[in-house]
Formats: sequence, structure tokens, C-alpha cells
Amino acid sequence: MEKQMYQGNWKCSGCGGAITQLPFEPRSESNLTCRDCHSKKTGGSPTEKKMFEGDWKCSKCGGAITKLPFEPKSQSNLTCRDCYMKERG
Ligand SMILES: [Zn+2]
Ligand SMILES: [Zn+2]
Repeated sequence: MEKQMYQGNWKCSGCGGAITQLPFEPRSESNLTCRDCHSKKTGGSPTEKKMFEGDWKCSKCGGAITKLPFEPKSQSNLTCRDCYMKERG
């Protein structure tokens, strides 16, 4: 079955390009994104890594860790970026 598309003349809030079709009827004209920008947003760019935010402590220097590129399973043995770099040389 084909999805119903709404026809109109809207503007993408991301790139400013024209949007003529939407899979839904927009309630407001702001914050509309074209297909390109939408897929960029949801797909995520490969250069941007997902960071986990939290309140952890470095096991080496005791410094605060607020962001990690992974979700830590245990709070021990966490190292901050500085110590991590030092350890790797
Ligand atoms: Zn766009
Ligand atoms: Zn540290």
C-alpha cells in the first residue's frame, strides 16, 4: 500500500530547501526538514561519535569524567582522556 503524501510548499529548517511533499501533515511550518536533512539527522554522520554522558571518576588521577565514547559497565577502572593518552604513550 502506498503511503499518503501531503503536498505543499514548505521550507526546510535545516538547509532552506523547498519541501513539496511530506508523509504527514505538518502542524507548524517551522522545524520542517527535507528528506536529506532528516536522514542526516536520524542516520547520524559517521564522523560524529555517540558520547555517553555521566558522572564518573578516573581511577588513575581521580579527575571527573563526564563523557565517554562507550557506556561503562562498571564504575571502576575508568580512566580519563589524559590518563588514557598517557598510558598509550
Ligand atoms: Zn534540508
Ligand atoms: Zn585521569
